[in-house]
Amino acid sequence: MTTFNLSLTTLLVSSALLLGGCSPQQQQQTTAGQAEQKQLSEADAIAFLKDTETKLVQLYKESNRAEWIYSNFITEDTASLAADVNEKLTVEMVQLATAAAKFDKVALSADSRRKLDKLKLALTLPAPQDAAKTAEMAKIVAELGGMYGKGKYCKADGSCLSLGEMSAIMASSRDYDEQLAMWQGWREISKPMRPLYQRLIELTNEGAKELGYADTGAMWRSKYDMPADDFAKELDRVWGQVKPLYESLHCHVRSKLSAQYGADKVPLDKPIPAHLLGNMWAQSWGNVYDLVAPKDADPGYDVTELLAKHNYDEIKMVRGAEAFFSSLGFAPLPDTFYQRSLFIKPRDRDVECHASAWDLDAKDDLRIKMCIQRTGEEFSVIHHELGHNYYQRAYKDQPVYYQESANDGFHEAIGDTIALSVTPDYLKQIGLLDKVPDESKDIGLLLKMAMDKIAFVPFGLLVDQWRWQVFNGQITPEQYNEAWWQLREKYQGVAAPVARSEADFDPGAKYHVPGNVPYTRYFLAHILQFQFHKALCDIAGNEGAVHRCSIYNSKEAGTKLNQMLEMGSSQSWQQALEVVTGKPEMDATAILAYFAPLQAYLDEQNKGLQCGW
Ligand SMILES: [Zn+2]
Repeated sequence: MTTFNLSLTTLLVSSALLLGGCSPQQQQQTTAGQAEQKQLSEADAIAFLKDTETKLVQLYKESNRAEWIYSNFITEDTASLAADVNEKLTVEMVQLATAAAKFDKVALSADSRRKLDKLKLALTLPAPQDAAKTAEMAKIVAELGGMYGKGKYCKADGSCLSLGEMSAIMASSRDYDEQLAMWQGWREISKPMRPLYQRLIELTNEGAKELGYADTGAMWRSKYDMPADDFAKELDRVWGQVKPLYESLHCHVRSKLSAQYGADKVPLDKPIPAHLLGNMWAQSWGNVYDLVAPKDADPGYDVTELLAKHNYDEIKMVRGAEAFFSSLGFAPLPDTFYQRSLFIKPRDRDVECHASAWDLDAKDDLRIKMCIQRTGEEFSVIHHELGHNYYQRAYKDQPVYYQESANDGFHEAIGDTIALSVTPDYLKQIGLLDKVPDESKDIGLLLKMAMDKIAFVPFGLLVDQWRWQVFNGQITPEQYNEAWWQLREKYQGVAAPVARSEADFDPGAKYHVPGNVPYTRYFLAHILQFQFHKALCDIAGNEGAVHRCSIYNSKEAGTKLNQMLEMGSSQSWQQALEVVTGKPEMDATAILAYFAPLQAYLDEQNKGLQCGW
């Protein structure tokens, strides 16, 4: 799925840092900076930031081009060239962060301070200054990535399955033991990661301390324009708002799974066994929707069929999504977008098909890369990807430091906000659908969406809850796995289907842990998209149910949206949020409003059941 791809800056910085590393010679150049001995001033900071800006623009452009070529022509050579460019970028970013930290005690304007902080915080995994340790860390990062990427489950008969194959079985199998075999098999790959991960935590914490942070988790939480501890509390507050809806969903799904597999396998008062939700990590449940679907939930149309009936090919689907943005008042995409994007899977070469949106030059060279299938789901995904592109274009005139979303949750949230407007009413307005089904058909659509998006929320929260506590030492290496399952049970109400021990390392079976990709952004995106959607619908003058609203054709909503997008990260995310929603706080009541009809349905369904775990 495309829900999780990256904006320009994030892509570059994070992929660069995954490669890690910095040679001793190169490091010397940085630390022996020109202003080493003298008292640093604001003027020095401004000069440093100006030089750095020029350097970054060039580096980003180069790295983007190398990545684009690699993703579109995957060969040994393009991989090697892309890795070289990324390594160069990493080295530079480590140097720049270190240099930026020298201004920590200098009195500066708010703008200079913000830019320097952006530089320091661009590092996902700060490495220690010590060259040997930096090299050790880079090696571990590469090894962990390799273990995950090459991970396979080999059965007794010698045949092996990839994660993709296992995920497909998890999605479609309704055989308890077969799903269990996949679930257990995949978790074999992460056992050997444990000592490496433990060492990685020690090393990166040392790097974070050198940059002035208590630990790497505190550094991650410092990106959010509020004290690190307040941010953690804020997430808990928002989760508290969503929790009753999640518990209702959990209760209903559990009763249906219990009916399917038997109350001995799925007891009605215990956490759900984690392998029965159609997903390797039980993080989204849409794949088992058929077990839960209400009778009579069929909306009576199928967008995939409608697209075929109206002769939509891949290009016409993209033009259609572009027209959505034009209806909001955004300027058309440049011709180069259509000339340079990848829309169709080539027959003669390997490409990275995972959908993504690109901005090659931070001017107007926007592209998407996607192997479009002519389905209703992909039609929504194209709207989502273009959301990234319009965001990128909106902030292109900001200084390079601010050419990113207001926080890392905003980019994904914007793409999804747009996709939430792909409603039956919108499909009717663009001539795909003849008649909008009546509201009684909405429960099926809402339930399916909740199984993907509401089911995800506690998982989106707990991955970094675990990691933050690992970084700060509250979870010791002897408790890695136990603590992981405590959190999964507490937040998600799911449990390991078989006994686990500290010989296992189940967090490592989730890409973002060995891949060192922060996860809170996905939690934020899931909350914010509903908040944006509701606010924009209000601005558009919507008076009906918020889940039926599309902002299509509303210039007022488009203007307000653009006003926020243009800010990039130049102001705090709270200020950006306020532009669209009128208030500076996250608020999950928009989720509750969106799913209100579903909540009523679930309450009815759950009557007489003992909910909770
Ligand atoms: Zn996305």
